[in-house]
Amino acid sequence: GSTIGILGGGQLGRMLSVAAARLGLRTHIYEPGANPPAADVAHAVTTASYDDAAALGAFAKSVDVITYEFENIPTQALDVLEAIAPVFPGREALRISQDRLTEKDFLSELGLTTAPYKAIDSAEALDAALAEIGTPAILKTRRFGYDGKGQARISASSDAAQAFADMAGAPAILEGFVDFSHEVSVIAARALDGSVSAFDPGENVHKDGILRTTTVPARLSSAQRSDAVLLAARILNALNYVGVMGVELFVTPKGLIVNEIAPRVHNSGHWTQNGCAIDQFEQHIRAVAGWPLGDGQRHTDVVMENLIGDDMDRVADLAAEPDCALHLYGKAEVKPGRKMGHVNRIQRGKA
Ligand code: ATP
Ligand code: MG
Ligand code: MG
Repeated sequence: GSTIGILGGGQLGRMLSVAAARLGLRTHIYEPGANPPAADVAHAVTTASYDDAAALGAFAKSVDVITYEFENIPTQALDVLEAIAPVFPGREALRISQDRLTEKDFLSELGLTTAPYKAIDSAEALDAALAEIGTPAILKTRRFGYDGKGQARISASSDAAQAFADMAGAPAILEGFVDFSHEVSVIAARALDGSVSAFDPGENVHKDGILRTTTVPARLSSAQRSDAVLLAARILNALNYVGVMGVELFVTPKGLIVNEIAPRVHNSGHWTQNGCAIDQFEQHIRAVAGWPLGDGQRHTDVVMENLIGDDMDRVADLAAEPDCALHLYGKAEVKPGRKMGHVNRIQRGKA
């Protein structure tokens, strides 16, 4: 069988490896950190940094195709890898999603609606942008933010100086605050032959910037549901994308607003493990391995709940709970805010 190289050894790399193993494929993880969660279930692990060209080259030679579980892969590492093995979803998807400004420009050019935004590189630029966009607004670092990190809310223009100081000199983007009723996401896949398949949109609830629960089905009219799926397909096609993508949306009375895209399997798609014959991880492996996409139709209602930090104290109870599928990532150390696992609660008899 062939071997899939995966950049990143976190829980997403782990669940991708499990899905690959079920298809008779092997995975080779590349991860700078020690003891990554994916190491337990992968066929091989390389522990090296992303500027180690020799290690990257040897890794690329040992695999048939390369994918990734996070979007912040340095361009120089891609240069080395791409010369040896195909990398999917690919360079363009990474370039677009590594920078919130590039991403919003791309989405706007596609004709999709985003929050109003402006690039911020000085305190004066922030004052000018606030005068135009108004408050409330959110200042975000353009790169490397996740789980709500690198963001500062601006309720009134008097908050501007502190918010700008919080960015610590990093290039930033100001976004107008979207008055949404709720948040949903579409997990969609595109195969090498260009065919596209989307999972049913899920409804997401965040707490302290971190995803808490995803519920399917989401509260959407049938028009909103097809809108969500069609706009996701438009994004995948525009990028000539291969693999699974997560598209986060705000639902407003005026329509769907795209918050951000993630060029990888996505936390809000974990429900598919127990709600579909083919889950997002297998769908991604199928796509990057050049297989046809599988049947991602939802066969039951599901509520996914993340287990974060001390939620691990509830594991014994959760293990005994009926209709509750437990997924743990094997992380040795519990830390506040750290994603340790998740549960999928099957809403039996509902579909
Ligand atoms: P992730 O972990 O999903 O990558 P992130 O750190 O990239 O998160 P965002 O998704 O940009 O951050 O923002 C986190 C949450 O903050 C959103 O899901 C939403 O609830 C809220 N939020 C972000 N931007 C806006 C906005 N412009 N208007 C209103 N709420 C927002
Ligand atoms: Mg994000
Ligand atoms: Mg987000």
